[in-house]
Amino acid sequence: MGSKKPRVLIVGAGMAGLAAARRLHACAGDLLDLVVLEAGERIGGRILTSEFAGAQVEIGATWIHGIDGNPMYDLVKKAGALRSRDELGSKSTLPSWERMDGFPTDPLTLAEGGLTVDPILLRRISALFSHLKQLIASGEIESDVPSVGAFLRREFQNCRDDFAGEWIEEAAFAMHECGERTYTAVDDLDSLDLAAEKEYLEFPGSTSPCPGGTPGFPSSWRKRFRQERCGSGAGSR
Ligand SMILES: Cc1cc2nc3c(=O)[nH]c(=O)nc-3n(C[C@H](O)[C@H](O)[C@H](O)COP(=O)(O)OP(=O)(O)OC[C@H]3O[C@@H](n4cnc5c(N)ncnc54)[C@H](O)[C@@H]3O)c2cc1C
Repeated sequence: MGSKKPRVLIVGAGMAGLAAARRLHACAGDLLDLVVLEAGERIGGRILTSEFAGAQVEIGATWIHGIDGNPMYDLVKKAGALRSRDELGSKSTLPSWERMDGFPTDPLTLAEGGLTVDPILLRRISALFSHLKQLIASGEIESDVPSVGAFLRREFQNCRDDFAGEWIEEAAFAMHECGERTYTAVDDLDSLDLAAEKEYLEFPGSTSPCPGGTPGFPSSWRKRFRQERCGSGAGSR
């Protein structure tokens, strides 16, 4: 006999879908027939831990950026996916590759062919990039371009008179763009809405990894709902 409960279908078992399922379950408990529909083979979406050369490697989300007052931090902790390096101690079987220990004071940057990049040039490009990011975050810019990518590019081109216009400057700026793509987890900075950037909220406090591996977090939620795969009929997994 079919269930008379209202059926709620959530599309995608990434963090957003799992968080929605978790919240609904917390509010309505078993009054709802919760189903999370996932197209892929696993839950977690852009959260995935893998192994390489005997070490644990995060392929997707790794860090909780700012732990003070961050609800993610509390949730991850409750799910048991968060253990400090000290707590892990000798129980850690796989060393984590991910580290965020700050930056060296005197970094060496090498370009193709082993060319050492002039640190003064790098500092100038880095300062420009940081300045542009601050402008974007402030939301106080009036721009006729829609995306973060287009804004960064345009401002860089406008500033190029201040530089010698060499390829290495272009490469240094592109290196920062690459870093920004990693940080914002987008393939293309042109897909980042410039106006929406000011809404991005970063919590204060330190940045914390999940030494136990991030997928432990979504997995701990799965028992609260049924998961179905798209195109595979209605069988729950
Ligand atoms: C390399 C990388 C590093 C990152 N590092 C961090 C970090 O350190 N800290 C941080 O906070 N964030 C980080 N992020 C971002 C973070 O991973 C994402 O913001 C977050 O996981 C997105 O969750 P989501 O549920 O919105 O989307 P997703 O994780 O993309 O989940 C969407 C899910 O929906 C499924 N789906 C899509 N379409 C359909 C459909 N039509 N039917 C059924 N299922 C569908 C997909 O298969 C997927 O499983 C990183 C991302 C990447 C890629």
